[in-house]
Amino acid sequence: MTVRAILDGKGHDVLTVTPDLLLRDAARLLAEHRIGAVVVTDADRRVVGILSERDVVRVVGTDGPGRLDEPVSAIMTRKVVTCDEAQTVPQLMENMTSGRFRHVPVVRDGRLIGIISIGDVVKERLAEMERESHAMREYIMST
Ligand code: AMP
Repeated sequence: MTVRAILDGKGHDVLTVTPDLLLRDAARLLAEHRIGAVVVTDADRRVVGILSERDVVRVVGTDGPGRLDEPVSAIMTRKVVTCDEAQTVPQLMENMTSGRFRHVPVVRDGRLIGIISIGDVVKERLAEMERESHAMREYIMST
């Protein structure tokens, strides 16, 4: 199973923000859309960073809500691990586990075309396990 197959199922929508958006507005977007991260892009839809709920909680928890008046660029992660559509789900899981993050933007020709979250990966793995166990049951019953 590949990233392409997951995107075919869930679609290519990604919530993006610009680096100059205020953190309080980015936090509102995360809450309104019930998501854990937004991808930060430039005018050409190139990935320049990622901002997760964890980043917001870390700075507010450490320094207080005054930091919410800063732009996203002040705290976003700039070195973003991305993937392409051909990447397999086990490779993706390995990257998420070793990097300790739950979101991976998908790029094609350097431009953002989707995002995979840990929830998408778990959903896909569960479906795959269900297919395997169904095939196993069919096999056993046919012998
Ligand atoms: P998450 O688990 O995705 O909420 O993010 C945990 C931390 O990793 C936060 O500091 C994020 O900014 C960062 N992060 C999230 N996704 C990525 C990614 N694909 N590449 C690099 N860092 C990331």
